[in-house]
Amino acid sequence: MAGIYVHIPFCKSKCRYCDFASFPDKLCFAESYMACVYREMAMRKEELKGYTFDTLYIGGGTPSVIDENYIAMLVAAARKNFNIAKDAEITIEMNPGTVSAKKIETYLKCGINRFSVGLQTAVDSQLAELGRIHNLKEFLLCTKLLKGRNFSVDVMIGLKNQTIADIEKTIETAAYSGANHISMYALSPEDGTPIYSDYLNGELPDNDQVAEMYSAGVKKLKELGFDRYEVSNFAKKGFESRHNLNYWRRGDYIGFGVAASSCINNIRFTNTFDLDEYFKCILSNHLAVKDREEVDLAWQEEEFIMLALRTSRGLNLKEYAKLFNKNFTEVYAAAIQKVGTYIEVNGDFLKIKDEFLFIQNSIIVEFLRTE
Ligand code: SF4
Repeated sequence: MAGIYVHIPFCKSKCRYCDFASFPDKLCFAESYMACVYREMAMRKEELKGYTFDTLYIGGGTPSVIDENYIAMLVAAARKNFNIAKDAEITIEMNPGTVSAKKIETYLKCGINRFSVGLQTAVDSQLAELGRIHNLKEFLLCTKLLKGRNFSVDVMIGLKNQTIADIEKTIETAAYSGANHISMYALSPEDGTPIYSDYLNGELPDNDQVAEMYSAGVKKLKELGFDRYEVSNFAKKGFESRHNLNYWRRGDYIGFGVAASSCINNIRFTNTFDLDEYFKCILSNHLAVKDREEVDLAWQEEEFIMLALRTSRGLNLKEYAKLFNKNFTEVYAAAIQKVGTYIEVNGDFLKIKDEFLFIQNSIIVEFLRTE
């Protein structure tokens, strides 16, 4: 399994919590940028000819803010240069404030078969507080256009003045809109973003309150038929994101566009975050890779453990033995004993118990300290 990620770094305006590579004032460069992405794909054609890609994920930024025909050309460029599986999962991220029936029609026509819609919260005052450009009404109009389609909705917890009732309302709104997949993330106030001052002023919920919000969210999602398959991801049966699963199983993936990262054959590399530098490199027929490093065996093992323990399925003990030629329960006997109350073994899988998945970082760290 292998995936393609394409980064579209344009947005209408910058949200208060955003530290992603997105440039609200650079939308006028969308046409040139997309031409560079198509060119970057052609530059990687030879190197990737042995791969079949099962997923193509168009993320951002806000991919739906640019002309829909560029997106159609992007999907065509991916098909022209790479071997894309016939039944590939092709996803586009959409901001409800930038969607139209015409855009969705073009997306469907070019083969996009999955949509990821950023709702974040169903409370308009909280959307405004986050600096989002959309409101609840626009989300409902957007999902009306997606009726009967395969789509996911993003929701956030840990917001200023957010109550458990707000979270339940948001999840119900997402579920009743027809979504078959919901991602629920906790707001992470990053230094350098405007929302960080709210955090410093003690205006955001503390860790215990966020944990409570998460538990309430999980409960509501379960009631509505969404099974957790990773700490932040919930799906109706059979609608798990193949693109995400590929990351968590350490599959190969290639990224195109500014700030996109890749991992092919255990070589990890990231494109420059600087839009001008990206243009300069691609226009002079050079790749725009900034950082490149080999993932050695110890690092592969660490990643394997970290990613597997984030999932509800857990770590496949047989697969671990095959990949690293050792017995997990022997190597990590001390860690297993230390965090024994938080984990369980089900057949070939060792997993963090469902009720402790939200605090997985403090459990996983015990496995990374051993040896
Ligand atoms: S829409 Fe997403 S990428 Fe764009 S500014 Fe907001 S959070 Fe950042």
